[in-house]
Amino acid sequence: MRRASSIIAIAVLLVLPAPHRPVGAGEAQSQPQSQPQPGQTQTPQQFFGFRIGTDGELARYPKILDYFQHLSKTTNRMKFQELGKTTMGNPYVLATISAPENLAKLDRLVAINKRLADPRGLSEAEAKKLAQEGRAFYLVYATIHSTEVGNTQALTEVVHRLVTDGSPEIRQMLDNVVLLVVPSQNPDGQVLVVDHWYKTKGTPFARVYPDLYHKYVGHDDNRDWFMFTQIETRLAVEKLHAAYKPIITHDMHQQGTTGSRMFLPPFDDPYDPNVHPILAQGITSVGNAMASALVAEGKTGIEYLSRYDLWAPARQYMVYHGQPRILTEIASVELADPFVNPAGADVPLGPQDARWNYPVPYKSGEWRLRQIVDYAVTATFAGIGHVAKNRVTWLENFYRVHADWVNRTSAPYAFVLPAVQRDPYEAYELLNILHIGEVELHQARAAFTAGGRQYAAGSWVVRLAQPYGAFAKTMLERQRYPDLRLFPGGPPKPPYDVTGHTLGLLMGVEVDQIEQPFEASLELVRTLRPAITPMPAQPKWAYLVGPESNAGFIAVARLQASGVAVYRAAREFEITGRAFASGTWIVPPSPEAARILADVSMSAGLTVAAADTPVTVDAYRLKPATRIGLWRGANNMPGGWMKWLLEQYSFNHRTIASTDFAGDLAAQYDAIILPDGTSRATIVQGLDPRRHDKEWSWAYGVGDAGWKKLADWVRGGGTLVAIGSGVDTARALLDLPIEPSLPVASGGRRGGGADSGTGASGDATRVMREAFSSPARLSAALRERVIDPASVFYCPGSLLQNEFNASHPVAFGMPPAWPVFFESDQAYRLKPGFAIQSEVVSRYPAQGPILQSGWLLGEDLLRDQANVVAFRVGSGYVVTMGSQVDFRTQPRATFKQVFNALFHGPSTRVSAAEIARLTNP
Ligand SMILES: [Zn+2]
Repeated sequence: MRRASSIIAIAVLLVLPAPHRPVGAGEAQSQPQSQPQPGQTQTPQQFFGFRIGTDGELARYPKILDYFQHLSKTTNRMKFQELGKTTMGNPYVLATISAPENLAKLDRLVAINKRLADPRGLSEAEAKKLAQEGRAFYLVYATIHSTEVGNTQALTEVVHRLVTDGSPEIRQMLDNVVLLVVPSQNPDGQVLVVDHWYKTKGTPFARVYPDLYHKYVGHDDNRDWFMFTQIETRLAVEKLHAAYKPIITHDMHQQGTTGSRMFLPPFDDPYDPNVHPILAQGITSVGNAMASALVAEGKTGIEYLSRYDLWAPARQYMVYHGQPRILTEIASVELADPFVNPAGADVPLGPQDARWNYPVPYKSGEWRLRQIVDYAVTATFAGIGHVAKNRVTWLENFYRVHADWVNRTSAPYAFVLPAVQRDPYEAYELLNILHIGEVELHQARAAFTAGGRQYAAGSWVVRLAQPYGAFAKTMLERQRYPDLRLFPGGPPKPPYDVTGHTLGLLMGVEVDQIEQPFEASLELVRTLRPAITPMPAQPKWAYLVGPESNAGFIAVARLQASGVAVYRAAREFEITGRAFASGTWIVPPSPEAARILADVSMSAGLTVAAADTPVTVDAYRLKPATRIGLWRGANNMPGGWMKWLLEQYSFNHRTIASTDFAGDLAAQYDAIILPDGTSRATIVQGLDPRRHDKEWSWAYGVGDAGWKKLADWVRGGGTLVAIGSGVDTARALLDLPIEPSLPVASGGRRGGGADSGTGASGDATRVMREAFSSPARLSAALRERVIDPASVFYCPGSLLQNEFNASHPVAFGMPPAWPVFFESDQAYRLKPGFAIQSEVVSRYPAQGPILQSGWLLGEDLLRDQANVVAFRVGSGYVVTMGSQVDFRTQPRATFKQVFNALFHGPSTRVSAAEIARLTNP
């Protein structure tokens, strides 16, 4: 009975297009309702107790794992395994599905993939033979964005059909393809969101989870594909991509509620030129196969070649590792409840004009979870089917992409990292990123010359003629984003994400691009370790640590936690011909200090010096165990990233809760961070208690009284560090004497949330997008001043040159000039201040190029404008950072300014005489 119904369903799906089926009609409806027998494979409906995609109902993640285990036990087409634990300790799992004969020789099939992925020494004929023997590995994962719930639900039906169906179509798929299914790329969020959904059922509370659906990074978990900071990213990169070498990745998403019903590739311009054209073609062919299947079934509202581009590696690890990226985005509902057009249930959703890239408009004003499931199921089978039918071609192409890279002869030839770096810790971190991304690294055994420059032994060489040269090149070169306009002469066409991502610039690491081949004695690096300078013997006066390395802050956090006093030199000084910069850490000697410094020296390459004779230098004494408060409003991603960062450095910190305002703030915090995205409304209103249970009381507003209390806390001696749009909040809080230099609506704010339509910072992006979508809408937006007419300035995520006053405590450790990250941010000019002292810490240069990597329009508006400014407000200290110097924690060269400010504000000035008596106070 079940078998028969499956065959009918497949026939409908693949052979007989059934246009204009009623909404919600799918194959599973005809499934029998009978109770399963023990040992018998159950349908999703039998297992979960409701039909997948039923309004309001969601299969929970743990039960989905149970179901996958059930399928792996009752069929012979599936292996199920846990690959590791997530950030919050949930299982991150993989189901491997194929014909039993393929599963039996999985190791051999993986070995073929690995050989094709690194074809050095492999002849074309051998490669073709391997392509014949191999199987195409198709990786599919869902719900990296956990409120986009429909796709994980759909995968239960996809998997069930693959492991039970006996039709020739499914046979062909199983024979030719090994399917790697990750039911959720963010299991923590899946659990949080679905649990919250059921917990709030029948209550007056908001049903959609109000906070970040990943502990630290929320929606930005899909912006971590080049720095690999989060556990889930690492699991995917190391335990899927590196372990199996899939030839294609299908990344299942949902988009907003009111646009097209489903987006499929091809993508819009631009695409990163380092993406091999074969992969770009692969993206188009699979996207088209999916669209054709959907259109043939009468599924309407399908759109392609629109909005989503292929530029930022933050979202697309796979395209630098031999795989097309198939992004599917299905229109969302109200989490699991139907979405009804607010304009009226009879007003159709989405554009109603058919276009080349939008063949059939959707005609209903309603949209349901079951439709998401149906669209997802159809698209997934179409994708797998397309790859199955063209298996050998896909494997040959996989080989060819890598062969082209290993045989590469065009410039540039390599990138070189000089052995001596300002911050050896970040140099090590940069190399480690490449290493995780499977880039081969070499180290020079002897000095050599390249590109007309001498390099010492120990310098690092990254040659581009290697399997993953594309990843290395994209990450190490400077981006020149094309000047794309919405129409000729018109406003800029917003990129989907940021435009500059040069690792050396982000991380404060010197990296040289070398155009022509050179000779050097190189050794392949197998195990990466930080460069280690030997620890000095315990000195009579003090340990000295230069301010250049971020690793200094790892040491500071640990020294503070152990109660060791820490000082910073207020100016530069010299000891026996060796120069120490302003901000050098001065640590009185003790066995405890020696142990901690030695430890950080070993693990992070921190250079520790020692002096027996005191130096005459004024200094600052850090406040013991400096207490840091983080304002992390609900669903605020920059705050989430900052939380992660503070934890990485083990600073003494805690997230500020509205309940803290019942007490004395000064008794709780020395310094407070207002991350980007923290507005007056975040602080004063916060989450509405009528819509959010007590569990969210930490994010309730503190009211006007709390706002005033915060200002009083600063004036009474607190330190406030405001970043990005948080600067405007601080300005309003304390009437700081600065004003914006750039047109206020100078560009759509990016920062995620855009594809799901549920993120906090998607609104401005949407406004921008809508305004710029046609000349008529743009003129209306200009007329209504939604867009500033003077908006000749545009910088949607680039690296821009800054000059630093490195003798200022907030810029301690910074070089005289280095790029900062700027993502639709603001620059400032000082106003005459009354009773508030201000000092510019960093500014955009008055001369010379400002853009270093990415895209910038209106460079001149930034000339000589301030970025970081420090203020004395009453007895308090305020530092404003107009650009996001900590953007997604990626600009490691500049986020030390945040740390500097946090520790400097609460510190006390001490005299040279006191510093000379360190060991004998
Ligand atoms: Zn998404």
